[in-house]
Amino acid sequence: MNASIVGHYIGGQTVPGQGARQPVYNPATGAVARHVALATPDEVARAVASAQAAFPAWADTPPIRRARVMFKFLELLNRHRDELAHMITAEHGKVFTDAQGEVSRGIDIVEFACGIPQLLKGDYTEQVSTGIDNWTMRQPLGVVAGITPFNFPVMVPMWMIPVAIAAGNTFVLKPSPIDPSPSLRIAELLKEAGLPDGVFNVVQGDKTAVDALLEHPDVKALSFVGSTPIANYIYETGARLGKRVQALGGAKNHMVVMPDADIDQAVDALIGAGYGSAGERCMAISVAVLVGDAAERCLPKLIERTRALKVLDGENLDAEMGPIVTRAAHERISGYIALGEQEGARLLVDGRGFRGAQAGAGCDDGFWLGGTLFDHVTPDMRIYKEEIFGPVLGCVRVPDLKAAVDLINAHEFGNGVACFTRDGNVAREFGRRIQVGMVGINVPIPVPMAWHGFGGWKRSLFGDMHAYGEEGVRFYTKQKSIMQRWPESIAKGAEFAMPTAK
Ligand code: NAD
Repeated sequence: MNASIVGHYIGGQTVPGQGARQPVYNPATGAVARHVALATPDEVARAVASAQAAFPAWADTPPIRRARVMFKFLELLNRHRDELAHMITAEHGKVFTDAQGEVSRGIDIVEFACGIPQLLKGDYTEQVSTGIDNWTMRQPLGVVAGITPFNFPVMVPMWMIPVAIAAGNTFVLKPSPIDPSPSLRIAELLKEAGLPDGVFNVVQGDKTAVDALLEHPDVKALSFVGSTPIANYIYETGARLGKRVQALGGAKNHMVVMPDADIDQAVDALIGAGYGSAGERCMAISVAVLVGDAAERCLPKLIERTRALKVLDGENLDAEMGPIVTRAAHERISGYIALGEQEGARLLVDGRGFRGAQAGAGCDDGFWLGGTLFDHVTPDMRIYKEEIFGPVLGCVRVPDLKAAVDLINAHEFGNGVACFTRDGNVAREFGRRIQVGMVGINVPIPVPMAWHGFGGWKRSLFGDMHAYGEEGVRFYTKQKSIMQRWPESIAKGAEFAMPTAK
C-alpha cells in the first residue's frame, strides 16, 4: 500500500480505497503530510459484510477467550503507547505529553474490557413458579459502528472498540479524516493480539461513509462522538432506521470559582483546562464563572498566565499548547474572537497576534493561535452560547452560587462542569443541583474513569446510555430472558389464562 495514502482496513487487510482523497496536514507546519482515502458506499458495504461474516464465530467465542485477546491488546498498547502518541501529535498537533495521556485514558477502557466475563454475567431466579426457573443473559448485537471526532483519535475510538468487541460484537470504525492514521495502527495491534480477521474494520471517510453505515441494515448500533448538529442527525436517522444509537455531542463547560476557593489552584485549573489541547477537548473549560470578588482576585493572574503560555510545536517537551487542528478551525476561532469584541466583551489577551515562527523552526505556515481571554462575557452573546472549540476562555461575573447554578442550568449544553470551593456544603449543593452530566469539585476536567462511564446531559448527548463502563456493556448487548421448566412426563393440558406463580 502507498505509505502516503491512509486507506481502509477490511477483513484483516489494509486496502488503499477507490474513492476520492483528502489531504492530511501537519498542523504545526501547515504542510500536507499524506492523503486519506474517502470510502465509497461499496467499500463501506464490504467492511460491513466482513464484520457480519465474522460475527457468528466471534459471538460464540467464550467471553474469557475474548478477554484474553484484550489482555494481549493491552500489553501491545502499553508497548506502543509513545508511538501512538507521536502519531496523534503529528496529525492533531496536541503536545506529546497530552497525547501520551490520551493513549493512557484509552488503555484504561481496555483494562475494563478485560473483565468482560464478569460484566456479562446474567442473573438467575430459581423456582419463579413451581418447577420453573427464570434467568436473564446479555447477548451481543451484531455489527456495530463507531463514528469518531478529530480531537481524540485514539481515546474516543477506545471508548467503544474494547467494550463492543469484548462483548462479542464485530466493529466498523469510521474515524475523523483529519487525523486518520492511528486507526490503522489500532487495527494492526488488534490483529497482533489475536483478534480474528473481520471482527474489527476501519473505513476512512466523511458524510458519504457515515450515511452508508447509518443506512446499512446489518449495522445494528451506532456510537457517535462529535459536534451536536451531527450527533442530532445521527440519532434521529439511526432511530428512524431502528438502530440503537448513542450520540455524544458538543459542549460549553463552565468552571465556577467561589470567593472562598484557593485562587492559585483555581487559576492553575483554568489555564490547564482552558488552553490544554488548545481548548479542543469536549471537556475543556471555556467559561470561567467568577463569583463575587473571585473575579478581581483571579483576573490579574489569569492575564499573566495566558500571556505566558508556552505555545510550541507539540513535539517540544516544553510545550503547553500546540497548534489549532486545521486552517478552517483557525479561521472559525479567530472569527469568534472578532465577534466577541463586536458583542462588547472585554478582550484581555488576544491570541491572534501569535506567529508560527514563535512556536519553533518550520512552524511559520502552521495553524497557530495564542491563548485568548475575555472578561465581561454575558449570556446573550454568541461567544457565550456557542461552542468555540479553541483556546478562548470567557469570564462571566455573577454575584453568588445561585446565579452561577442558574446560568449553567440555562445553557443548551451539559457535558462537564467544575466548582472550586473550600466549602463542603457549597460543593454538595452544587453537585446535586447542577444540570450537567459530569461534575468536578475542585477537579477541572472530571472525565470519569473506565468503570463509571462518560456522558453529558441536554444537547451534549442523544440517547439513553453513556459511553463505556457498565452503560457501555449494556449498550452493546441486548437482554434475553429465559424461562425454563423440565416437567415430569405428565401432560396437564393447554393453559389459556396468563401464567402466574403457582
Ligand atoms: P464533527 O461533528 O465535525 O465530526 C465527527 C464525526 O462525524 C467525524 O467522523 C466526521 O467525519 C463525521 N461527520 C462530519 N460531518 C458529517 C456529516 N455532515 N454527516 C455525517 N457525518 C459527519 O466533530 P469534530 O470537529 O471532529 O470534533 C469536535 C466536536 O466533537 C466538538 O463539538 C466536541 O465538543 C465534540 N466532542 C464531543 C465529545 C463528547 O464526549 N461529548 C468528545 C469529543 C468531541
